[in-house]
Amino acid sequence: MQLAKRIQQLPPYLFAEASRRIAEKRAEGVDVISFGIGDPDIPTPAHIVEALVRAAADPANHRYPETEGLPELRRAIGRWYEDRFGISLDPDKEVLPLIGSKEGIGHVALCFIDPDDLALVPDPSYPVYARGTFLAGGDCYFLPLSEENDFLPDLEAIPESVARRAKVLWLNYPNNPTGAVADLDFFEWVVRFARKYDIAVCHDGPYTEVAFDGYRPVSFLQAAGAREVGVEFHSFSKSYNMTGWRIGMVVGNATMVDALMRVKSNLDSGIPQAIQRMAIAALEGPQDCIGEHNAVYQRRRDRLVTALTRMGLRVRPPQASLYLWARLPEGQTSLEFATRLLDDVGVVVTPGIGYGPHGEGYVRVSLTIPDERLEEGLRRLEGWRG
Ligand SMILES: *Cc1c(COP(=O)(O)O)cnc(C)c1O
Repeated sequence: MQLAKRIQQLPPYLFAEASRRIAEKRAEGVDVISFGIGDPDIPTPAHIVEALVRAAADPANHRYPETEGLPELRRAIGRWYEDRFGISLDPDKEVLPLIGSKEGIGHVALCFIDPDDLALVPDPSYPVYARGTFLAGGDCYFLPLSEENDFLPDLEAIPESVARRAKVLWLNYPNNPTGAVADLDFFEWVVRFARKYDIAVCHDGPYTEVAFDGYRPVSFLQAAGAREVGVEFHSFSKSYNMTGWRIGMVVGNATMVDALMRVKSNLDSGIPQAIQRMAIAALEGPQDCIGEHNAVYQRRRDRLVTALTRMGLRVRPPQASLYLWARLPEGQTSLEFATRLLDDVGVVVTPGIGYGPHGEGYVRVSLTIPDERLEEGLRRLEGWRG
C-alpha cells in the first residue's frame, strides 16, 4: 500500500525517542521520576465525577450527541466567560464544545489553510499548531520567542510579504512551554496586526486558570476588537484536572466558530453527553478546587525553582501555567542535558528543542508530579553533580 505524502512527510515526533529511552530505563529496573508530562496528577474533583455517574444512568445520554454540543453546555460556557472575563458570548453562534481542545486546534487548520497557505506559529510552541497546518497542506512561518522579549513574538519583525500571505496567527498565553504570560496591550497589538493583514487569530488559552501569587491571566477576547479577528481555544483539562475525559471549547468569532463546526459535523459526532454533563458541573459547581490545586502547584514551583537554581540553571518563577522553563548553562544541548540527567539519576525533563529550534538551551520541567515523587526527584537533583 502507499501512504499519503502527508503521512510520509510528517516530521518524526520528537518526543518518541525520549519515550523509548524512558521505557528502556524502566525495563532495566530504574525507578524513573518524570517531570516531563503536562498532565495534572490530582484527580478530577469528586462533584464533577458524580455528575458523570448520574448522567451515565440516563438513557438520553446513550445516543448520538449533536456536534454542536448540548445547549446547556454552550450556555454554561457563555456564563463562565461572562463571570470570569466580563465577555458576553452568543451561546448559539460564538461557542462550540470540542473533544478536548487539541481536537479543535488540529481541525481548525482545515478551515483556513489551503495547500501552500501560510500560518504564523511561535517557536517554541505546542506542536499541534504546526502539525495541523502541515496536515492541511500548509506551511509555517515561525515566530521566535525569546527571553529578551518576555517570550512574546515581535509582530513588527515579520516581513511584510509574509504577513500578507499569512492566513492564521497562533498564540498561546499563559504559555506552554515557557510559562510566559501576555497582557491586554499585547493582545490589542495582535488585533491591530490581524486587522491590517486580514489574518485569523487562534489564541490557545488552556492555562488561564492555572496561576500563582494572586495573578489572574487575561483572555484574548478581552482585547478590544478581538472577536472580529479571532477565537480562543480553552479546555477543562488543566482547569479541572480533566485531561482523561477529553472536553474543551472554542469561543469567539462567529464565522470562525461556524467554519470549525462545519468541518467537525463531517468528521465527528460530538462529545459523549455524559462528559458534557461533567463539564457543566465543573463550570457551575464550586470553584474552590482551582485555588486549592494552584496552591499545590505554587509550592512545587517554589521547591523546584530553588533546586534548579542550585544546579546552575536559570529560571524565572512563572506566574501561570504548569511549567518551569529553565535555561541551561552554556555549552550543552537540551537533548544532551536531558539524556545525562536520565542516565545519571533517572530523572526526566523535556528538552526544549522538542518545541522548536528556539527551545534549544532550555528544558521544560512540569509541576504535575505527586508531592512524594517530587521530593524524591528533588533529592536526586540536589545530589547530582552533572
Ligand atoms: C494541554 C494543552 C492543550 C490541550 O488540551 P486538551 O483540551 O486536553 O486537548 C492545548 N494547548 C496547550 C498549549 C496545552 O498545553
